[in-house]
Amino acid sequence: DRAARTSLLDGLDPDQRAAAEVPGGPLLIIAGPGTGKTRTLTHRIAHLVVERGVPPEQCLAITFTRRAAAEMAERLAALAPAHAGRLTVATFHSLGLRILREQHERAGLGADFGIADPARQLAAAVEAAGDEKKARKLLADVSRRRRSGETPPEAAGYVEALRRQNLVDFDDLVALPVALLESDPDVAAAYRDRFRWISVDEYQDVDEQQYRLLRLLAPPDGNLTAIGDPDQAIYRFRGADVGFFLRFRQDFPSARTVQLTRNYRSNANILGAALRAVSPTTLVPGRELRPVGDHGDALVGTHRAATEQAEAAFVARTIERLLGGTSFHSRDSGRVDSDGPSELSLSDFAVLYRTDRQARPVMEALTRAGLPFQKRSHDRLADRPGVEHILHELRHPGEGPVLRRLRRAADAVAARLPEEAAADVHTAVDLLRPLAERCGDDVQRFRDELALGVEVDSWDPRADRISLLTLHASKGLEFPVVFVVGCEDGLLPLRWPGGGEEDDEEAVREERRLLFVGMTRAQRHLYLSHADERVRNGAVRKSALSPFLADLDAALCERVDAAAPRRKPKDTQLRLL
Ligand code: ATP
Ligand code: MG
Repeated sequence: DRAARTSLLDGLDPDQRAAAEVPGGPLLIIAGPGTGKTRTLTHRIAHLVVERGVPPEQCLAITFTRRAAAEMAERLAALAPAHAGRLTVATFHSLGLRILREQHERAGLGADFGIADPARQLAAAVEAAGDEKKARKLLADVSRRRRSGETPPEAAGYVEALRRQNLVDFDDLVALPVALLESDPDVAAAYRDRFRWISVDEYQDVDEQQYRLLRLLAPPDGNLTAIGDPDQAIYRFRGADVGFFLRFRQDFPSARTVQLTRNYRSNANILGAALRAVSPTTLVPGRELRPVGDHGDALVGTHRAATEQAEAAFVARTIERLLGGTSFHSRDSGRVDSDGPSELSLSDFAVLYRTDRQARPVMEALTRAGLPFQKRSHDRLADRPGVEHILHELRHPGEGPVLRRLRRAADAVAARLPEEAAADVHTAVDLLRPLAERCGDDVQRFRDELALGVEVDSWDPRADRISLLTLHASKGLEFPVVFVVGCEDGLLPLRWPGGGEEDDEEAVREERRLLFVGMTRAQRHLYLSHADERVRNGAVRKSALSPFLADLDAALCERVDAAAPRRKPKDTQLRLL
């Protein structure tokens, strides 16, 4: 009958479907932005458990950020509601923490080990290095080297200081499970047996330790699906190495490779311009990528402003214009036209920038224009004022649900503090409440979740507001209208004023890929803007157009000025590169 023939794979195109249907063994999905990699991954997992009878307990999906993991869990819950609760969706760090909690004794940790917050990390580093300046340098050096698999001797004192307090740091969350599984084959075998189906999204950004963990969990002929795009590798500065992606087929010789070539996300001009921008140093030469979505034919808008304030004003005016005048339509109001500018709502816009401080003039311009926005913050809840006090008080043994203990702790702390600090503590309780409620009475889980980096970040992809994000934070996301501001030499590629002159070529390539990531977030409209001068490090500096945009194809782009009405797109069919 009809119902029996519908499948979870019906929403996939033939290539995606072929990838999702691969019965087992190593699988590499290599494909450009917007080709449905993440979509294929979620459908594949749902298909395996719902239609192929794979026990959900055996499935492990790994993504890079907690937000991406939460989104994936949500999508899986929609696709496979009866099984989703038993699937494991994790980041490398949350997976590592889980292994350490289960194996703490073998890993040489106390049962109630904690994860050091930045303050405690620093304290441990000061113990090892002597003074704060040396300690900060030690932390930065040691972290990067440990992620790329080294055990720098100068880390020893720092790690000892942590362990004396029964603490691990963030890097330990991957490094310790790796050491444990390497030294104890039985434990490794037990985890391999538990997680027989593993998938990793954004595989181009794994670092050495994460790679080692994967190789310990997945045998060479195991059911490991790696998904990624080498041209979107943007975390080298944190120790990631796109080389692991590129050598997947050597590591897993029986791997099948599937390429996806249809881009569902962006219009042809946007895609063409982005490919042109990345082409000089692409890691996927000759790649095929065809736009198939229905996202109009607007050209890529380029804008040159005198100052960063003028650039921000351009952004605000363009948003107003696309929303259809100064009054805008909310998606919630139900006033949606079938076509035309007012089809857009505030949540359809994103402003992307290289450095966080570039957000300031944009926020000012949007505020002046009365346009609601939300900035993605990277503050961790754990670093908020007041939280530290409460956590300290929570160390005393206690009974009852986390929220009640939290309130009691807050009252006790607040009574001892000056008025302002006491107010912080009460605000902190409000911020912590949702997490506390999720954790029932499990104080340890509450602490773990906090330490893993629950963000205060109220950024909500569904809220009816303009999104302001760094280019890094935009990874994996998409928006109908995207502005990349500050397309200038010195910002893209980034060079810190007063920084060394010697250019690290690989770092510059990575900056180019970062621009590629940003440009490929756009569906219907992409604007690339730059300012002739900008304040950097307290001084006004002249800036020139980003060299990455120097030879954009004129047929795909047009100069725009927000004041002038945008001319109709040319009706000639533009050919892709
Ligand atoms: P990125 O490299 O940026 O992470 P991606 O390859 O993971 O991109 P997705 O985010 O999975 O791409 O998909 C991009 C967009 O295309 C999404 O809106 C998705 O729903 C849509 N899409 C993907 N495949 C299809 C399809 N077969 N039919 C319709 N829409 C699709
Ligand atoms: Mg994706």
